[in-house]
Amino acid sequence: MHLIKANNGIKIRYLTHDEKEAVRMKWQHMELDTESVIVINELLNEMRKQDYFLVCDCKDKNPPKLTTVSRNNKISLRNCPDSIAHEKGCVMERVHGITENGVDSGTVRKSPLKKVNYHKIIPTVDDGGKTARPVTPGTPEGSGLTKTRRSALAGILLSLIEDAQLNRIELSRNTPLLNMTIKEAIDKLQGVTKNNQYKKSRYLNDIVHFSPWMSDTKKESVMANLEAMAWGKNEVPSFWIIFECGDVDESEAIFKKWDNEYPHRPTKGMRINGEYGQGCRENYWVIVRYVRDNETKKVTCRDGYAHAMYSGSCPVPVDSNLEKQTLIDLAKATKWVKDNVCAVNVVMEKPLFDKEIEYEGERGYVLPDFILTIESDINGVQTRHRLVVETTGIYTDEYIKRKTTQHEGMAQLGNVITDPPSWPKSKSREYFVKLAGKFIIPEPHRRDS
Ligand SMILES: [Zn+2]
Repeated sequence: MHLIKANNGIKIRYLTHDEKEAVRMKWQHMELDTESVIVINELLNEMRKQDYFLVCDCKDKNPPKLTTVSRNNKISLRNCPDSIAHEKGCVMERVHGITENGVDSGTVRKSPLKKVNYHKIIPTVDDGGKTARPVTPGTPEGSGLTKTRRSALAGILLSLIEDAQLNRIELSRNTPLLNMTIKEAIDKLQGVTKNNQYKKSRYLNDIVHFSPWMSDTKKESVMANLEAMAWGKNEVPSFWIIFECGDVDESEAIFKKWDNEYPHRPTKGMRINGEYGQGCRENYWVIVRYVRDNETKKVTCRDGYAHAMYSGSCPVPVDSNLEKQTLIDLAKATKWVKDNVCAVNVVMEKPLFDKEIEYEGERGYVLPDFILTIESDINGVQTRHRLVVETTGIYTDEYIKRKTTQHEGMAQLGNVITDPPSWPKSKSREYFVKLAGKFIIPEPHRRDS
């Protein structure tokens, strides 16, 4: 990154390493330490006084430029209005597009990530699996965090999980994090399929099954039953199987029970949330879809999707192993508050769909990693507040899969803290536990320390 004179484009100087880090942290709304605050303020003042633009180095030709804006005596950075978008994966890219100044044209998510409408889940037209998705082995682990697009299967699985409330746990009651068995979780999902229709008078439990051990004969009879029903034009009779499993890669998911293995091998390959190759965040929620193949006429596994869960005894969906660590520490922080400060009831939600917010008059959407709702009732004084926790998941330059954050927007929902609290200068896990604990304490009990 370097500075240029705004009016004539003459190069002034390159940014120092510390300046670049401070810019990145500021841009991502991370908590800056004192040194970084000084560095960023000096840089922004220099840019403002000298009328400089900051040029990003993500593109050689016609690189994106940033300028300063001043509001309420605070100087901040923003993309130049006529500047082109940052390269995909650039640390200055804002995928969600909500900036300090509202909606950043060109990169804004056109539509919010919403739960699926179960009346629209039956796929239409099927190509018989001819357009198999190319598999790219060896690709580095994706962030799984830019949730701008989601497959139909992911939408169905996550909607059912949300409706079954499997993405919520009471942290105050579950230390260590154990809240239910897989069987209990499956029962809850099954309850949702029994109570929701996909067509008038036809319930999801016709088409969503939870028996990964289903034999080929059974699959044929399930499909034959479906085919005997009335379908709309172009609708492809399909059924889905949902299960928990540890073994997932891009070609198959293997359910194991009683020393038996039940592989599901989608002809279009398995998609794993944010991962390529062999999944390494076991265990997983898996959903696979079965159809009748146009050519072989056999019931065939067409596509599949896997989403990591915290563990088999706490099947909350997570986006990374780092999020698992965040969850452990949030439970520790909650316990610390209960043991040392006051009784609290803390419900953790892992949002799977966008939350709508109002920010500076604009309607926008945010998808925080975790939202904690903290309630207390002490001597008749009731309190309720929320804490948003973002796992930033960036440790070294090599592994930068930057998460685009909308922390200012998320602040409409509650206090926002990030884990780790102040990357790249690493702080201990204990520091994060203490920081989270501080924000879990209900307002009347907070003391400046
Ligand atoms: Zn850039």
